[in-house]
Amino acid sequence: MSDTRRFATLAVHGGEPRPAAGGSVVFPVFQGTVFETDPGGGVGDAPYSRLGTNPTQRHLHRRLAALEGAEAAVATASGMGAITTALHSVLATGDHLIAAGDFYGGTLQFLTEHAARLGWSFDLVDPGDPDAWRRALRPSTKALLTESITNPLTAVGDLAGAARFAREHGLTSLIDNTLATPVVFRPHAVGFDLVCHSATKALNGHSDLTAGAVTGSRERIARVAAVLGSYGASLDPHAAFLLARGLKTLALRVQRQNENAQAVAELLAAHAAVAAVRYPGLPQHPDHRRAAALFDGFGSVVTFRPVGGAPAAEAIVKALRLPYAAPSLGGVESLVTRLRLDGAAHGMSGEVVRFSAGIEAAEDLVEDFAQALAQSPAALV
Ligand SMILES: *Cc1c(COP(=O)(O)O)cnc(C)c1O
Repeated sequence: MSDTRRFATLAVHGGEPRPAAGGSVVFPVFQGTVFETDPGGGVGDAPYSRLGTNPTQRHLHRRLAALEGAEAAVATASGMGAITTALHSVLATGDHLIAAGDFYGGTLQFLTEHAARLGWSFDLVDPGDPDAWRRALRPSTKALLTESITNPLTAVGDLAGAARFAREHGLTSLIDNTLATPVVFRPHAVGFDLVCHSATKALNGHSDLTAGAVTGSRERIARVAAVLGSYGASLDPHAAFLLARGLKTLALRVQRQNENAQAVAELLAAHAAVAAVRYPGLPQHPDHRRAAALFDGFGSVVTFRPVGGAPAAEAIVKALRLPYAAPSLGGVESLVTRLRLDGAAHGMSGEVVRFSAGIEAAEDLVEDFAQALAQSPAALV
């Protein structure tokens, strides 16, 4: 029963009951943890926040499912909670995972530190190289995990091909859609089974809560929810209420972020103080055509390597007045983060700066970057 209205409409109305409780346009927060049961029923029927069955959590789940075009969704205490719970719902001891991506540091750390202990094995392969997935396939392979846009290199793998490959080989396909958001890419539409998010980033968008989400079929989400309930990592109802509020403006925010990222990427690409830029919206990005065919927009993250290494990166970040120098991404405030990428391809090895576009006016961001780049030692010589 998928909702066919346009995304901007879904962001406001998808999964909203009409009328909501008490006639309120906004679904209320049920902060209570104890609910009366039907005297004829069992305790198992009572809503309970750890199990994600509190009415505000259920409301958020309907909203998240509508936005990703899925039958069902479950919210988690963090993005890592979403990824680890989703993996636990599909992998058992002895199973193998094809991990096709550069991967968010936390995901890579989880696999490196915990997979072997859980009896899982995995191969890290290039998300843009189907031959590499084929070579990694084993009789024990049960799942394929990828990312819609990688962080911080903004690679866009062969995503439709990866979902197809998983289906052909009977694997569960999982994708971390945090950087793209459903505004830019809806993975279920190309066949992904489970979509994970760090809702801490753009889904909430206001840098004021930590949350995650997993979407998929009713059957798959029931399994994810069962693992989540046992591990006790569901999202608190008040955070669920705030996240449902953040989702209302998702389409507007992400559209503006995409425009701002594109404007700054174009300035960087043309600037003498910048050695290399990665943004899927630039025609010179190696995955630009793939992204243009699959996506509506190119995301909010731009990564660039200044000429002059660490001293230049430091000078630029210090000179910027609008973006906060802070980790994270996807919020309404622009952020910049300095990172060291040793051995990275595409001219990005060494000291780089990741820019997460906020929703400020593009002109102000472009002017700010222009004045900051002029402070770089590379621009002064
Ligand atoms: C931040 C992030 C995560 C982890 O999310 P938390 O909410 O911090 O647990 C996972 N994947 C990606 C791509 C991220 O950017």
